[in-house]
Amino acid sequence: MDNKYLLLTPGPLTTSSTVKKAMEFDYCTWDDDYKKITQSIRQSLLALADVNPSKYTAVPIQGSGTYGVESVISSVIPDSGTLLIAMNGAYGKRIGQMADVYGINHIDLVVDEQSPVLLSDVKSTIENHPEITHFAMIHCETTTGILNPIEDIVPWVHEKGIVTIVDAMSSFGGIPIDVSGINIDFLISSTNKCIQGVPGFAFVIAKKSILETTAGIARTLSLDLYDQYNEMEKNNGKWRFTSPTHVVHAFAQALEELKLEGGLQRRYKRYQSNQKQLASGMEHLGFKLLIDEKWQSPIITSFIYPTDDFDFQEFYNELKEAGFVIYPGKISQVPTFRIGNIGEVYRDDIARLLKAIEQIQNREKAL
Ligand SMILES: *Cc1c(COP(=O)(O)O)cnc(C)c1O
Repeated sequence: MDNKYLLLTPGPLTTSSTVKKAMEFDYCTWDDDYKKITQSIRQSLLALADVNPSKYTAVPIQGSGTYGVESVISSVIPDSGTLLIAMNGAYGKRIGQMADVYGINHIDLVVDEQSPVLLSDVKSTIENHPEITHFAMIHCETTTGILNPIEDIVPWVHEKGIVTIVDAMSSFGGIPIDVSGINIDFLISSTNKCIQGVPGFAFVIAKKSILETTAGIARTLSLDLYDQYNEMEKNNGKWRFTSPTHVVHAFAQALEELKLEGGLQRRYKRYQSNQKQLASGMEHLGFKLLIDEKWQSPIITSFIYPTDDFDFQEFYNELKEAGFVIYPGKISQVPTFRIGNIGEVYRDDIARLLKAIEQIQNREKAL
């Protein structure tokens, strides 16, 4: 068996032993008891989003988070529509790739990877392009750890009569989002990020009045969002195709544990305090942060390589040996690595990580 380690990556992440234990039963995907679990998950997600269940619905989609984003992009924009995509990292770019694959008209608002997307840029793009019907942006751009200000941007866009899509993959459940207050029409997230389940499905929180106008638009069968919704509504939580039964049960447990922790606000506080402890500890050890504190998310932090000859692979290997797995960087302008602080990760874990990094530094100095 491999050495055990703590995942300091933003999903999959370290889950609790009780979440893992919940996977020890083989459920039947069509059984009524199982369908009840799916229905309760859908209700819990709406409660977590703090939305009115008569106005919003939660629709799970098999696959990783990308499948959920692709389900929305390929299912809700008609051929006559035009999608504006705000991009300041890999996940915004990925939505552009999806639009290309399906031949959806799109306008890309490309922003520097080290800067947030700002309302002023979105405004001028929309004012120059009256043909825009749909708008997509990323909340926490996990590429760098920037938290884009959806609360400034989405209400303005919605006011223009544009359908709003937010990829909140790495923030939903860990950072409060006023979904109905800021008028998000489609929000996408997945099991294995802030809700701390295991990987296996994505979910969409959708405004019903918009979703119900999208029947027949889908460009694929398996990612047809409306059809998945329709089947679940008609058939009390029945997934159209084989569902990830173990993942579903683990996710129900993860949602329960989020409640037990004290809810979303408490989890948000823990993530914030983890991130602050990590950032200040790393700065103390001589590392510099890529992103300005004002835009830094409490989820994942990018650190600039401390020297020109910094050997990330070696650093990674030594940390793995010490029981921690971190993430390489994902941007081209500056060499960076990333450390996530979500999952079953607490104050002591961050303290142990910082100690391990200090020991690596001391060994290097002694060479
Ligand atoms: C994790 C993530 C995704 C989805 O990634 P998958 O590997 O498909 O799960 C999409 N957007 C953002 C912002 C993410 O952090």
